[in-house]
Order: sequence, then C-alpha cells, then structure tokens
Amino acid sequence: MLTVKDLAVNYGAIQAVKGVSFEVHRGEIVTLIGANGAGKSTLLKTISGLMRPKAGQITYLERPLDRLSAPQIVRAGISQVPEGRHIFPGLSVQENLQMGAFGQRDRAVFNETLQTVYDYFPILKKRRTQDAATLSGGEQQMLAMGRALMAHPQLMLLDEPSMGLAPIFIQEIFTIIQAINQAGTTVLLIEQNARQALKIADRGYVLASGQVKLSGSGAALLANPDVQRAYLGG
Ligand code: ATP
Repeated sequence: MLTVKDLAVNYGAIQAVKGVSFEVHRGEIVTLIGANGAGKSTLLKTISGLMRPKAGQITYLERPLDRLSAPQIVRAGISQVPEGRHIFPGLSVQENLQMGAFGQRDRAVFNETLQTVYDYFPILKKRRTQDAATLSGGEQQMLAMGRALMAHPQLMLLDEPSMGLAPIFIQEIFTIIQAINQAGTTVLLIEQNARQALKIADRGYVLASGQVKLSGSGAALLANPDVQRAYLGG
C-alpha cells in the first residue's frame, strides 16, 4: 500500500533521515520505533507532505506521493494524527471534528462518520459542545484521532499517540488503534513506547540515527535481546 524507498530528508545541513526504506501492506499495523531524534517524526511529516524529501521515493497505491500537497495527500486517503495533537482551541469538540471532514459535502455521510467517531470515543460525544482546549491530554488525543478519522483514511499515520498520557489512557488509546485497524484502516504508528507499539503491531522497524537498523514481526522484535536492551528497559 505504502512503499518508502531510499528516503533522505534534511533540515538545512542536518540529515534527519538517511536512506530509509520500508513498506506498509493493506490491513497492517506497522510501527516505527526508536529513541528521540531517530528521525521518526520527520519520516511521518514527509509522507504526509509537510516536508519534501531530498532523495528517494514514496509510493502510495502505486502512485508517487512526492509531488502532492498535504491536502491532496489527505484526499488520497492518508490522514495524520500529529505529535502533540494540535487541536483547535476556542472551537468546540464537534467543530474540531468538522475541521477533519473538509471536502465532505454530503450531510448524511458526514453524520454517519461523526457517529462512527462518537462510537469509538463516547467521551467526545459527551463533551461535544465543550471548548476543545478544556479536554484532558487523553481526551485531546482521542479528539485528534477522531478528527483524522473524519477524513475516511485508508491509511492512518499516528505520531506518538501515547506521549504524556496517564497509563490508563495509554491502554485505551492502543485498544482503540487496534479497533480502528480491525474495522479496515491500515495504521502506521510511531512510538517511543516500544513495548505497547510492538504488542499491537504486525510488523515493526527500528530506527536509529536516521536509518533502519532492524525489522521484523512485532513478536520477533519484542523477543529480540538487542531491542529489549535498547528500547524495552532490559
Ligand atoms: P522525537 O521523538 O524527539 O520527535 P524523532 O525520532 O521523531 O524524535 P525527528 O524529530 O524526526 O526525530 O528528528 C530527527 C533529527 O532531525 C534530529 O536530529 C533532530 O534534532 C533533527 N530535527 C528535527 N526537527 C528539526 C528542525 N526543525 N530543524 C533542525 N533539525 C531538526
């Protein structure tokens, strides 16, 4: 579904991604794990069109993505849930969700999608008229995921969804990611919480210093002594 080949991305003179290749197949949950600064966020931003590659190719459903704008990439079926949520303060929860449905003019489809999002996240329905800025961190993460779902993605990109959340919310977010995947959305998940991410992933890639160092099934990487030592706390 998504093929990233020999991708290189720079910030000025800094090489953040140095020739990375990986694949995401339809229906999978694939995770990219790695320490701070490994290049994970840069990779995701490049796939979603927020940054341009210096070299390499990104192909989605046999089409090159590199020349599409970020809105065109969303319309092609890829939605990103950004690191830090980036919800719109001053707008209600429901208005935030509406922002994710841009381009959707059919009221019936919109209402149906909204209901699906509220089924995943009942707390958002309860808080739908509330200013999004008043939500807790976990609720804001749910809102960011709900907003991405409003665009009907075939592929959902998640950047550190568990960051800064209480353990009870972390568990809930990972359970919902699995449910979204089982309902048909392919998932590319970036996480520092490597244990949780590998547990739900079909496959994973370990990134370090802008390069892929290891790859394998989620279970194989969880069992790998090097991965355990470096990313799973021994
Ligand atoms: P984190 O979990 O901390 O976000 P990451 O694996 O997502 O880490 P990136 O944010 O992609 O890593 O960063 C990769 C490299 O690019 C790092 O060396 C980082 O310092 C550098 N970098 C990231 N953003 C910028 C920027 N705006 N300007 C210059 N260098 C940057």
